[in-house]
Amino acid sequence: MGALRSLPSVDELSRHIDGVSREVAVRAARATLGEARTRVLAGSQASDDLAGEAQVRAAATFEPTLKEVINATGVILHTNLGRAPLPAAARDAVTRAAEGYSNLEYDLETGRRGSRQDHVESLAAELTGADAALVVNNGAAAVLVASAALAGRLELIVSRGQLIEIGDAFRIPSIVAQSGATLVEVGTTNRTHVEDYAAAMTESTGAILRVHQSNFRSLGFVEDVAIEDLCRLGAPVIDDLGSGVLAEHVAGTADEPSVRRSIEAGCAAVCCSGDKLLGGPQAGLVVGRREAIARCRAHPLARVVRIDKLSLAALEATLRLYLDPGAVTSQVPVLAMLTASDEALRARAEAIRSGLSADGAEVEIVETSAKVGGGALPLLELTGPACSVDPAPHGLDQLTRRLRSGAVPVVGRARERRLLLDPRTVADGQVAALVSAVSAALG
Ligand SMILES: *Cc1c(COP(=O)(O)O)cnc(C)c1O
Repeated sequence: MGALRSLPSVDELSRHIDGVSREVAVRAARATLGEARTRVLAGSQASDDLAGEAQVRAAATFEPTLKEVINATGVILHTNLGRAPLPAAARDAVTRAAEGYSNLEYDLETGRRGSRQDHVESLAAELTGADAALVVNNGAAAVLVASAALAGRLELIVSRGQLIEIGDAFRIPSIVAQSGATLVEVGTTNRTHVEDYAAAMTESTGAILRVHQSNFRSLGFVEDVAIEDLCRLGAPVIDDLGSGVLAEHVAGTADEPSVRRSIEAGCAAVCCSGDKLLGGPQAGLVVGRREAIARCRAHPLARVVRIDKLSLAALEATLRLYLDPGAVTSQVPVLAMLTASDEALRARAEAIRSGLSADGAEVEIVETSAKVGGGALPLLELTGPACSVDPAPHGLDQLTRRLRSGAVPVVGRARERRLLLDPRTVADGQVAALVSAVSAALG
């Protein structure tokens, strides 16, 4: 207990902290002493520089823990690194919406209350061919609202091949249970026929839910039912596309279902995510037939999973970019990265290599492949050049740890005990910061 008693008081320790207000100093001193006490009680030594520790803690008070990271993994939709980087127009829209007031729910023509949906509904409808649209907080919420509104208290028919888990606890059986609908499973894991659906339809059928196998594919003796055939059965069809593709002309996206095709097939509601291949903010889109969307909007869950104004601003700006099919690929970073030319990737790899070499690193350019990530295009291999860095004098694990703890953390890939830096997910404007972060971690 002597060691505990020898710790300074909060007041005493806080007096050694400079450059912050009294309250911030006291808060840092209290936290530092709390930690020191825990260490002593666990039988170890308290630090012999409590004042230094408290000073560092005080200085970090206003440092956000959510910060910029350079993604050198080559995985475009890296869920852990925040999925889609926003287009410039969307970033500007967020700033404007954040800075002041806006007509979020105010009709400037009549001076009456408006709907936040008005800013995106006609855009989403035009881009997909739908009658109407509802945007919510994320893709999972879109599926939940559509299921609850169209099949709540009734039966929702799903193929056994589509009872999937996407990740982070999004599992179709749990979502259906939460919607209040009763899950009716049809078919088998590998094969489901249109007759299986037809045989399951009764007066209690609320809807059929089709779910895209976003992050895996079944191969071999498999069969599922085309969306057009499902729609011909007569029950409302909810189509959960996951990523969903809005710009069908973008090379490489052909393996993901298009939203327009599902709308043309006659789906009641088609759901997709805002921050996967669409390349916008976290959001969920439900587009479809007028009366189905009206039911979704009127459901109490729609209010619970309402989209916030910053995401709405970013989504509107991103959707507007799709109105110009010739420009969208260069304006939406996700699409630009997906379609980056070998030439552009090679030039960026070379810029990274020469910067690191000038700082004394041993770097070579190799051919690699990466996945799109984010539960999209699981079969697509994005091949291209990458910088392969010798981690010496560190081991690879030590180097990656140093890279994570830098001022601007860098995440790369490991290959054959070397660090791979993939230029595809590094913006041109980040090359200098990447080079200095890697050089600092090596040095
Ligand atoms: C990703 C995905 C979702 C969830 O979308 P979020 O925007 O991540 O909430 C739902 N369904 C499918 C099929 C998905 O791929």
